[in-house]
Amino acid sequence: MNIVQSAVPPLPPELIQKFRAIVGDKYAVTDAADIAPYVTEERDLFKGRSPLVLRPGSTAEVAAICRLATEHRIALVPQGGNTGLVGGQTPHNGEVVVSLKRLDKIRDIDVDSNTMTCEAGVVLQVAQQRAADVDRLFPLSLGAEGSCTIGGNLSTNAGGTAALAYGVAREMAIGLEVVLADGRVLNALSKLKKDNTGYDLRNLFIGAEGTLGIITAATLKLFPKPRAIETAYVSLKSPAAALKLLSISRNEAAGSLTSFELLADIAVDFSIRHGIDIRDPLESKHPWYVLMELSSSRDDARDALEAILEKGMEDGVVDDAVIAANLSQRQAFWKLRDEMSAAQKPEGGSIKHDISVPVAAVPAFIAEANAAVVKLIPGSRPVPFGHLGDGNIHYNVSQPVGGNAADFLARWHDVNAVVFEIVLRLGGSISAEHGIGVLKRDELPEVKDKVAIELMRSIKTMLDPLGIMNPGKVL
Ligand code: FAD
Repeated sequence: MNIVQSAVPPLPPELIQKFRAIVGDKYAVTDAADIAPYVTEERDLFKGRSPLVLRPGSTAEVAAICRLATEHRIALVPQGGNTGLVGGQTPHNGEVVVSLKRLDKIRDIDVDSNTMTCEAGVVLQVAQQRAADVDRLFPLSLGAEGSCTIGGNLSTNAGGTAALAYGVAREMAIGLEVVLADGRVLNALSKLKKDNTGYDLRNLFIGAEGTLGIITAATLKLFPKPRAIETAYVSLKSPAAALKLLSISRNEAAGSLTSFELLADIAVDFSIRHGIDIRDPLESKHPWYVLMELSSSRDDARDALEAILEKGMEDGVVDDAVIAANLSQRQAFWKLRDEMSAAQKPEGGSIKHDISVPVAAVPAFIAEANAAVVKLIPGSRPVPFGHLGDGNIHYNVSQPVGGNAADFLARWHDVNAVVFEIVLRLGGSISAEHGIGVLKRDELPEVKDKVAIELMRSIKTMLDPLGIMNPGKVL
């Protein structure tokens, strides 16, 4: 998808030289082959272009880049691990990319305060591991955790598979350091849970997708490390049955229920067909599956999980289930789930949605959307899967078998129209956790409260009057 908004004039060589002087020769990338990984993304959905990628190594260097960009009205695109799914990190119009990956230090771990202060470029998996090293948990978890960064997670307000128990990224950050468009540094790296001294500035930048400033560091909340984690792979007849199992699980396990993922059989089939070393945890085929996990600070998770599954079978909700016998089996269950996005690519064109509706409305949403999409494009294959516990479904639609990918992708907006109509009617959101980026930018004004959009525009103008921060994204 090429998103051209307006032609950006070429960057004069003397300006490139000034940017180069800030980060040093080695970290100013101008060679087209070296720039390529920063302007493309894994699914080949978005392809951008840029004359320059800057890789600053400190907050001071980021601030100097922003000052120079303001002085010369140069548009910047902040980038972390480049795993975002809505084209927010791509320079669609020749903007300068600011890669935060070299800001990869963990500045502080305070075990007694249960906080960890990370620079923006720290890879999520590294943050998780460093927390585990001090017997704590940093619970944010998602399929891209081996390459996405804390700065990207906060900028997209990522959700992931543990949001059910721990909340989304926003709820895991208590402090932030941000470089503003004009180069000023907002130091709000507080470790305080309680600090009622005015407006909540931190939350303005979380979920802003790089349009208000560049996050350079964050103070994150740590949690007690669970002593026991138990995972089950369950088969069922329908999303309605999965909803009943969710209710049983909440009654039996309350806050110990950390993940509850709904998987359609087609999503499982794609993962098994196209993933490497992925096996079906159950031998028989079923229309729907749930991958669920309990975590506990005591050794009672296994008993609780068994009680849930027993009750589910008694109530006719669960058809079959297997509990992971060890860590490698647990990892195998999760690999099946984590491969689901990537496994759709070999099946041809895939139209993506990341929607949320009230949890109780998920079965109705899936039934209505499946019927509407297949009526619109006969033979198209809905591939719904995702975080049922949060009412968040990745409602992707694969092209008909043997069809033409380009023809199918040309219907993206038609498919959006029918899916979003159902989402809105059910009281949902067109973006649950991936953000707006460019993918949903044009639809946002149609679905969001008018006053909310006006306020968003005012905040953007106040913080970025020249419009140099990730222009054309979100708004
Ligand atoms: P990028 O992709 O580099 O950037 C994303 C956005 O943030 C862009 O708008 C960019 O401009 C901005 N940005 C990046 N860094 C900064 C910064 N330091 N300051 C200001 N702006 C910045 N998301 C979920 O919520 N839940 C999931 O379960 C989930 N699963 C995923 C699974 C896979 C396989 C993949 C590929 C992605 C998944 N995602 C999921 C998408 C998710 O948004 C990203 O993976 C992640 O949060 C983005 O981090 P990143 O470092 O790669 O950011």
